[in-house]
Amino acid sequence: MTIGVLALQGGFQRHLAMLEQLGVEAIPVRYAQQLTNCNGLILPGGESTTMTRLLESEGLWAAIASFVQSHPVFGTCAGAILLSKDAQDARVKPFEIMDMVAERNAYGRQVDSFSAPLDLSGIGAQQYNAVFIRAPQLKLTSESVDILATENGRPVLVRQGMALAATFHPELTADPAIHRYFIESVVPNQKTVVAKKVVAHV
Ligand code: GLN
Repeated sequence: MTIGVLALQGGFQRHLAMLEQLGVEAIPVRYAQQLTNCNGLILPGGESTTMTRLLESEGLWAAIASFVQSHPVFGTCAGAILLSKDAQDARVKPFEIMDMVAERNAYGRQVDSFSAPLDLSGIGAQQYNAVFIRAPQLKLTSESVDILATENGRPVLVRQGMALAATFHPELTADPAIHRYFIESVVPNQKTVVAKKVVAHV
């Protein structure tokens, strides 16, 4: 299995390191052709405005938009914003594959960054501490989005089929539980989910 990590901007290095720590082959993705070697993709944190600009100028936006229609993807922070249906900002062009609206920098200037314990017992992690950095808040717009973790009553780790999104930075916590969940529970479901969609279409 090879997982690509979008490497145009933002915190991609730690994602690569965490995947390697889990024994997964990981490649920094800078060109559209590299996607053909990937079984899944991580969109890291950074700035969704800058990332949109670079995705378009590097000719990657359309390639990723098509890749994420049929492959597992994990978006963290700015990456989660890019998976939403609407980022409420004309400078951000999301891939629109998760039924949710992202409010950028929603915790406000006063609370730039913070860490908070999350109950991740549902995915087998104990005492998980999540790092939020100028994080978005998510408003889910359909029941097909599953909430895997909340913080202060808000969804912070959500999944819709093959797409997983975290409003925080799992690559900055020593525990690789969420990357493991992506590798073990989201990526292998690719075929099942695609097959289900085809059946539903008929
Ligand atoms: N505030 C950033 C944005 O709007 C996200 C911050 C992050 O990825 N840590 O894109």
